[in-house]
Amino acid sequence: MSSQTERTFIAVKPDGVQRGLVSQILSRFEKRGYKLVAIKLVKADDKLLEQHYAEHVGKPFFPKMVSFMKSGPILATVWEGKDVVKQGRTILGATNPLASAPGTIRGDFGIDLGRNVCHGSDSVDSAEREINLWFKKEELVDWESNQAKWIYE
Ligand code: UDP
Repeated sequence: MSSQTERTFIAVKPDGVQRGLVSQILSRFEKRGYKLVAIKLVKADDKLLEQHYAEHVGKPFFPKMVSFMKSGPILATVWEGKDVVKQGRTILGATNPLASAPGTIRGDFGIDLGRNVCHGSDSVDSAEREINLWFKKEELVDWESNQAKWIYE
């Protein structure tokens, strides 16, 4: 895989979908120059969320967080491009919206930790794991962007 085909998993959580922030969140990734390779609305169940948040199972905030994540649809997306995992986290902002800089998604749209609007993979390895968890192989669309030559030198 070349550096331009690095992929990350970005999700708009139920609060972001309910608040009508989907298009604004997608547009930040599009405008930056990243390529959308998968997208769908998902009603997540316990099993999916326990796998997705495996590192947090058993923590005090876990049950409340799972019930929030099950409270409405989640927009699951996969984006591709150079350094997209790290840049995606920067576009999202800090986990706690109160610590997020203005100009980031959480810094612009969030206040509470448990309503932080979006999720983004924190490493290339977790991105691969999360993409495989949320998407079937055939849901990842292989396509060539005509913009690529205007974005990459
Ligand atoms: N979270 C929470 N309460 C806490 C810690 C985390 O509700 O005390 C939620 C928060 O929405 C966060 C998610 O659990 O986005 C996963 O936490 P993690 O530390 O993995 O942060 P992230 O990778 O989402 O920035």
